Amino acid sequence: MKSIERITLLGSTGSIGVQTLDIVRRYPDRFRITSLVAHSRWQQLAEQAREFGAESVVIGDTRYYDELKEALRDTSTEVLAGSDAINHVAKSYRSDTVVNALVGYAGLHPTALAIESGKRIALANKETLVVAGDLIMKEARRKGVDILPIDSEHSAIMQCLDGERREAVRNLIITCSGGALRDMAREELANVTPEMALRHPQWSMGAKITIDSSTLVNKGFEVIEARWLFDMAPERIKVVIHPQSIVHSMVEFTDGAIKAQLGSADMHTPISYALLYPERATEPQEDFSILNHPTLSFSEVDHAKYPALGIAYECLERGGTAACVMNGANEVAVAAFLGHKCGYLDIVGAIRYALDNASFVAHPTLADYDASNIEARELARRYLKL
Ligand code: NAD
Ligand code: MG
Repeated sequence: MKSIERITLLGSTGSIGVQTLDIVRRYPDRFRITSLVAHSRWQQLAEQAREFGAESVVIGDTRYYDELKEALRDTSTEVLAGSDAINHVAKSYRSDTVVNALVGYAGLHPTALAIESGKRIALANKETLVVAGDLIMKEARRKGVDILPIDSEHSAIMQCLDGERREAVRNLIITCSGGALRDMAREELANVTPEMALRHPQWSMGAKITIDSSTLVNKGFEVIEARWLFDMAPERIKVVIHPQSIVHSMVEFTDGAIKAQLGSADMHTPISYALLYPERATEPQEDFSILNHPTLSFSEVDHAKYPALGIAYECLERGGTAACVMNGANEVAVAAFLGHKCGYLDIVGAIRYALDNASFVAHPTLADYDASNIEARELARRYLKL
């Protein structure tokens, strides 16, 4: 019988966080929640802490500390607040695994600290690898730490690579739904509102990644993520449009064979794969029949409509802090767009402007990434006149 795995869940109130707790709930003999971290939804965090008997909780926004503390007064759960406390629980000896489901740059330091303290990482926070994939993977190898992806495409690739020899891999083929605006002409994009871009046809996700999916910034990020996670040259990472989101990604081998992983568009599968690996969940979250999906189609990406994908490859070619700049500018622009403070096309405009004007560090440390992130955000604000 396996020993209980103690989990710290960063971002427990978000889309991935809540689905992670669904998996934990199904396997009470396998997992125990040590710490839960969220940004501002303190009521939901308090309920989760009660249900799972968390030893500690952290609320990122310190303004909600008093309410959270009061809500958990009659429990033994320790209540903490602020980013230092998030870093503290990320490296705490009390857990074996850190599930990082934070959104954005905020996920980087907790991942780095969890690696430093030798924990297994289940990584949904793709921005960690987008910003600092080179450094993070080097540190993980040095520490002998496993990083298991919670991103459907990377989970699919990991499943296709299982049992295969590296030399036999020719290409990784990442599938892309095309996002909420895939049926819209390029000329119409200027008038897109947040409400339109938030209507993803297949996946129900947090707001930021849904916007990133519509611009294909998300797919660009996934190319960068795959480059580091699987140590694959960028020119061997391909993207194809696959509107049905049933094939989650593929691996092409030297003999011409292509392996693919298929299933419903449900993040419970990649989450349970990461948490239970090398085992699998004993039953699916929801029934799925391939007979209900008689048509699977694939086509090329329209790079004129989606310039962000090419920009991500450009960042990989430049290396250093380039992808960090892309990420920082994108975070500011997406938040501005969601707040009706800029237009849809300004998102990629801000990324382009930041990349063209930011300083460049070829071999960055974590401190260099922090500085680059701040600079990128300032440049984006300047471009957007915020
Ligand atoms: P979300 O917005 O739904 O949730 C984010 C969570 O992080 C929330 O619990 C929020 O409280 C917390 N958080 C955010 N900023 C924080 C901060 N500064 N301090 C403390 N807590 C903070 O996001 P999501 O859709 O669950 O995505 C999480 C990550 O997973 C992202 O990196 C995303 O790209 C990735 N991802 C998500 C999906 C999906 O289906 N949602 C799929 C693949 C990858
Ligand atoms: Mg994905």
